Amino acid sequence: MKRLGVLGWPVRHSRSPDMQNAALAASGMAEGWHYQLLPVPPELFAETVVELPALGFVGANVTVPHKARALALARASGGEVSPRAAAIGAANTLLFRPGGRVDADNTDAPGLLAELRRHVELDGASAMVLGAGGSARAAVWALRDAGAASVMVWNRTHTRAVDMCEALGAEPVRRVSGADILVNCTTVGLRADDSVAMLPLPAAGLDAFHVVADLVYHERGAALTRAARAAGLVVVDGLEILVAQGAAAFEAFTGEPAPIEAMRAAVGIAQAR
Ligand code: NAP
Repeated sequence: MKRLGVLGWPVRHSRSPDMQNAALAASGMAEGWHYQLLPVPPELFAETVVELPALGFVGANVTVPHKARALALARASGGEVSPRAAAIGAANTLLFRPGGRVDADNTDAPGLLAELRRHVELDGASAMVLGAGGSARAAVWALRDAGAASVMVWNRTHTRAVDMCEALGAEPVRRVSGADILVNCTTVGLRADDSVAMLPLPAAGLDAFHVVADLVYHERGAALTRAARAAGLVVVDGLEILVAQGAAAFEAFTGEPAPIEAMRAAVGIAQAR
């Protein structure tokens, strides 16, 4: 049995096991492969990961709060670190290689790009990113890599935005202004009672943007996603981004094309494309 999993703390809310096991089943691989939760506290991360290959694991996804730690572990093992994971400073996909080497990649960035590109030309676009945590780093790197002309970053803690922008080549701002694309990389929307009023939108509100991408997802629709849909804007849903990053990871793990529709259905996206 080849084993896969998602390392996080806490991680029980993760949709990845349902999504990846559905992908394995749709690809005729359910007999030989299994994907599971791997709840691991930060202090046990490194010592747990090095034991995984001996237990049959061929790879793992990584989520909060371990993404920077995963990158450091791959580097220390002598494994291959993709240029985008290195630039972003975080890895969400690990592959276990012979001799204890661990390869690391970041599929959050290409996942977001794949979904944005379905709706908007990124070359020359302007973008406003909210947040300065791990997913914001991936979003800023991705937008810059795709040729966005300007990427502005607002964060609740301004100094974090300044540091991140210096590293990735974006513009930290204290006030949110309009842009072609708004990307929410804060955690606002995770809780059922969160509202868009918690985000510092410009006076024109969501009309100041053409496309709204919300990395946050919620079973009833995240707050910003719901508000942007109600305003008639083009919306890139966090669940679609989750599927896109998961599809890239599936292909890295198995070498097989990802069955996207099975993955979308597994996370509850009702409509086929
Ligand atoms: P993170 O590293 O913990 O960063 C959290 C960010 O949210 C920080 O910028 C933080 O600002 C900000 N924040 C927290 N509470 C806030 C509030 N009340 N008002 C305004 N800003 C607030 O988290 P992350 O890894 O970037 O993830 C962010 C979100 O994206 C999470 O909900 C995660 O589930 C989601 N995500 C989704 C996908 C996907 O595939 N759809 C992938 C990755 C992440 P401070 O710096 O001021 O604390």
